[in-house]
Amino acid sequence: MIRADDVMRVGVVGAGTMGSGIAHVFGLAGISCRLVDVDTEALGRARDSIESNLTRQVRRELISPDEAEVALGRIKTGRNLDAMGDAEVVVEAASERPALKFELVEQLSSIVAADTLLASNTSSISITEIAARAAAPARVIGMHFMNPVPVMRLVEVIRGLETSDEATTLTLGLCKRLAKTAVLANDFPGFVANRILMPMINEAVYCLMEGVADIEAVDTVMKLGMNHPMGPLALADLIGLDTCLAIMRVLHAELGDGKYRPCPLLAKYVAAGRLGRKTGRGFYDYAGG
Ligand code: NAD
Repeated sequence: MIRADDVMRVGVVGAGTMGSGIAHVFGLAGISCRLVDVDTEALGRARDSIESNLTRQVRRELISPDEAEVALGRIKTGRNLDAMGDAEVVVEAASERPALKFELVEQLSSIVAADTLLASNTSSISITEIAARAAAPARVIGMHFMNPVPVMRLVEVIRGLETSDEATTLTLGLCKRLAKTAVLANDFPGFVANRILMPMINEAVYCLMEGVADIEAVDTVMKLGMNHPMGPLALADLIGLDTCLAIMRVLHAELGDGKYRPCPLLAKYVAAGRLGRKTGRGFYDYAGG
């Protein structure tokens, strides 16, 4: 397998919130990036958001205007997965649906070279299960970036049952090139980040449902009492309540322990379409921006 320092071309599948951020950091690290999505509008939004996030980094004097321009030039967008043909590494950041991830890894296996690393940015789907659909499960790994990708330093690197040491070494080296801190985890539901974060958010919603305290009080306790930069309910609004519920359902189903039971109030908000910031309303109201 190629060494991390020699990687020149990567592919990113899915140009949403995460895919655009991942393309951004590859571009800045000097690596050419093909960003592919089935949705042309998503590609346009991704280009706009990468450009405005690079501009913000220039304004804050984190990078020079030249660096921003060159980074943007390294990112090519398109709708055809075949553009991944010469990629040494592909990061799949498409929507969080198991059937979609399984199909994509099968398709990618027939497009990329035999030794291409296939990484998935999934938050909760088993890397081992995704890898089982690949031509070479040993070169499939989880690369769980955090949102917003250009800002957050962590990448959780998840080894599936068959992931090789070579694939792990390459992934850790790549994280270093992206100036990220990698933490290794084994493939269990929720990995580390969501195994800890989501039950905390879920418990915060139980506090609200049972009348222990109101929304502001729950968030203030965690901010001022635990030094969290954001309260758990505000964070849930940022992540998306549908995403939080989906991850709790995975933890509950796969670990089989009642302590992961999704809070009925969380399910009720999702049923009502109050998904958080993205719909303008979750635990808080964002109608005024
Ligand atoms: P998103 O909805 O913003 O973007 C997903 C994109 O995938 C969409 O643009 C969609 O058009 C595209 N897509 C769907 N099918 C496709 C296909 N067949 N080929 C190419 N593109 C396709 O979602 P997101 O928040 O960016 O999440 C992407 C992945 O990252 C998910 O697996 C999610 O669990 C994970 N993740 C999300 C966060 C977060 O905070 N949002 C954090 C860490 C990991």
